[in-house]
Amino acid sequence: MSNKSSRRFRELGTSQPPADSRVILRRAVVMGGSIAGLLAARVLSEHAAEVVIIERDDLTAEDERRPGVPQGAQVHVLLDGGRVQLDRWFPGFSDDLVAAGAVHSRDDAIRMYVNGAAKVPVANEIISASRPFLERQVRARTLSLPNVHSVQAQTRDVIFSGDRVSGVRCTLAGEPADKVRTMAADLVVDAMGRSSRLSDWLERAGLPRPAMRRIGIDLNYATAEFRRGEGSPGATTVQAIVLPQNGRRAGTSVLTAVEEDRWAILLSGFAADRPTRDPDDFRERCRRLPPMFAEVADTCQMIAPVTTYRQADSRRRDFHLMSHLPAGLLAVGDAVASFNPIYGQGMSSAALHASCLSAYLRSAPSLSKPARDYFEMVRIVIDAAWQTSTLNDLALPHVNGPYPRGYRVARRISNLILQASVADADINHRFLQVANMRAHPNDLVRPSAIFRAARVVRSNKSRQPMTK
Ligand SMILES: Cc1cc2nc3c(=O)[nH]c(=O)nc-3n(C[C@H](O)[C@H](O)[C@H](O)COP(=O)(O)OP(=O)(O)OC[C@H]3O[C@@H](n4cnc5c(N)ncnc54)[C@H](O)[C@@H]3O)c2cc1C
Repeated sequence: MSNKSSRRFRELGTSQPPADSRVILRRAVVMGGSIAGLLAARVLSEHAAEVVIIERDDLTAEDERRPGVPQGAQVHVLLDGGRVQLDRWFPGFSDDLVAAGAVHSRDDAIRMYVNGAAKVPVANEIISASRPFLERQVRARTLSLPNVHSVQAQTRDVIFSGDRVSGVRCTLAGEPADKVRTMAADLVVDAMGRSSRLSDWLERAGLPRPAMRRIGIDLNYATAEFRRGEGSPGATTVQAIVLPQNGRRAGTSVLTAVEEDRWAILLSGFAADRPTRDPDDFRERCRRLPPMFAEVADTCQMIAPVTTYRQADSRRRDFHLMSHLPAGLLAVGDAVASFNPIYGQGMSSAALHASCLSAYLRSAPSLSKPARDYFEMVRIVIDAAWQTSTLNDLALPHVNGPYPRGYRVARRISNLILQASVADADINHRFLQVANMRAHPNDLVRPSAIFRAARVVRSNKSRQPMTK
């Protein structure tokens, strides 16, 4: 791992909107109109005469829980790295979000616990909103751009012309499945999420599939919403992390205020530890957490049924390693990598992919060649998120690898930093920069940070070591 990755990651995470734009494409097609697709379309709007988003769900539907985003009912935390990018592409976005009802938590309103111990106060900020609310705000801004529009259709395949992709085949909503239309494009972007079928389509065309890496996490989620009443707890965002040691069941729980005077509580467990849809089970689990969880669960009205979600694995598709990659084809968001959602990296990662797309299109690329430079930048973003999340997941007793080279050393350093972050504000700040995708994990393993963490942990011997 090099400092080059850290530097590139910082550049991609800039808050500065690009200074210039040049139209180099006639039409760009984005397959999938969720967070990653919408942000890709926003960037493409500066480089293409026309941008078409093909989304199979009805985006105008009254009920915002749409089948294409089954995770939409679960708590979604927007990390600061993602917030910066949303503000970059839509100036004033986070202020507008708060004005529209999202909740801005900072300083004392944020509480964090590790194994029941409260972390030192931190200068941290979190904007909380439900996932459909956030997506609606991004969608409204993207679709208000004059050269961007969406079509409700199911993409069935991409069209190959020689060594490049030259368009898509799709079926319009309401038309019979065997009626397939074609749409030509200079650039096609896969934003179809973690179940994208692009790899099958590449294989069908005689091309290699991108290698898929998976780590089985066997994660169980449950989210419930409550009415925020009078006399609410002082905090508006509470996170409780339990690490897998001394027989404890690992899991992360989040209590957060969201728009329309609601609380959302997320409980998670791994393997056989499954929060159910039973409201009593939900409340009982809240009672085992820091007191604010039970305070809300026991005194506020539950306003929607508990919803559950299971995710078998974290996965990434290594497009950057493909020996044959057609020109005119990109992928963004979960279609490239989808992580353990507990770390809240998905939307921020997708936002940083939009930054990669912008950097790529501004570099005067040869569009007749595969977009290797783009996928190399995406690799840096994914490595950063993957490193952080899988390092922790690989320490779970039920996870069996594969363990990367240097895992044990990396794990020991990570444990040291995490232990020190509970007590030391400087280490906690650095830790949060990485956890919030504002900095690359390589920045945390600098000798200065490790020595400081070791000093803090030595002088605080009462804490237990956190090793697998
Ligand atoms: C339980 C859970 C909790 C999460 N929590 C967080 C969190 O706290 N913070 C965070 O940042 N991220 C979180 N994520 C991740 C986050 O949901 C995704 O990273 C984010 O939605 C970006 O995904 P995407 O746009 O790439 O894909 P998706 O959101 O999965 O969207 C894919 C889109 O493609 C469309 N589509 C698929 N196939 C076709 C087709 N053939 N034709 C046309 N359209 C198609 C779908 O309808 C859908 O709209 C969580 C994920 C899960 C599962």
